Amino acid sequence: MNARVFKPEAYLIEQQPYYEPISSEIELFEAAYHNQLPLLLKGPTGCGKTRFMEHMAWRLQRPLITVSCHDDLTASDLVGRFLVSGGDTVWVDGPLARAVRHGGICYLDEIVEARKDTTVVIHPLADDRRVLPIEKLGEILVSPAEFCLAMSYNPGYQSVLKDLKQSTRQRFVALEFDYPSPNLEAKIIGNETQIDAAVADKLVKFAHMTRHLKGNGLEEGASTRLLVHAAKLIVSGVNPNLACRSAIAQALTDDSEMLLAINELSVSLF
Ligand code: ADP
Repeated sequence: MNARVFKPEAYLIEQQPYYEPISSEIELFEAAYHNQLPLLLKGPTGCGKTRFMEHMAWRLQRPLITVSCHDDLTASDLVGRFLVSGGDTVWVDGPLARAVRHGGICYLDEIVEARKDTTVVIHPLADDRRVLPIEKLGEILVSPAEFCLAMSYNPGYQSVLKDLKQSTRQRFVALEFDYPSPNLEAKIIGNETQIDAAVADKLVKFAHMTRHLKGNGLEEGASTRLLVHAAKLIVSGVNPNLACRSAIAQALTDDSEMLLAINELSVSLF
């Protein structure tokens, strides 16, 4: 495949992604989008931020370009670079430049993981200039009205090294995410996996027990994502205690005493 050919229609989401709103996040996102304001999705891992972005991209019928940020991610990875192809040197847009050119939604997942030089390219896009300077091309891309910049951030992992600077965070409209209420979480698990309602309720109870351990030996409690994983195993016939151990406990910790404690919690329920 020719790396230069980018098909924005391939990034359109045709089928409605299932999403249960937790509060007014859909209305807030739409209002921010129509006012061309960038968005910051704050919340723990596995609580529905990515699913929400898919749902919003479908609602607004815009291509969704997602970048999972990591500590090697540089500004050039986002903007683009010259590549040698068959003896020629060609410019290849990065995901951010593609989203700007084609009026897409660019979702930078876990932005604090990216290298600090990425803020240089995000800042002029995230204020009322809405431009992406491409220094290597001597070009300044002006965002069309349809372009949207969104990024996610987990305040739970906050540290001096991995925190969002005020100069960055103060450009964004923040949407707060958290685990859904118990009834809603059980409904989501049921919808995602067709698991029996009584078992879904027990999984949610189990999740709450692990969430109480946050800060007492666990960095995070079980997320909705992990509950969906365990429910899928149970629907496939796996014993619930084994499903909780493999899909939830082992995903949360490697500490053998903590694993024993979490397994006891699941045995008390199932
Ligand atoms: P995050 O991006 O916050 O890490 P995800 O969006 O990947 O989390 O959510 C993980 C999974 O949890 C989703 O794939 C979906 O199955 C489920 N989920 C969480 N919240 C919701 C929600 N509000 N509506 C529908 N599904 C949800």
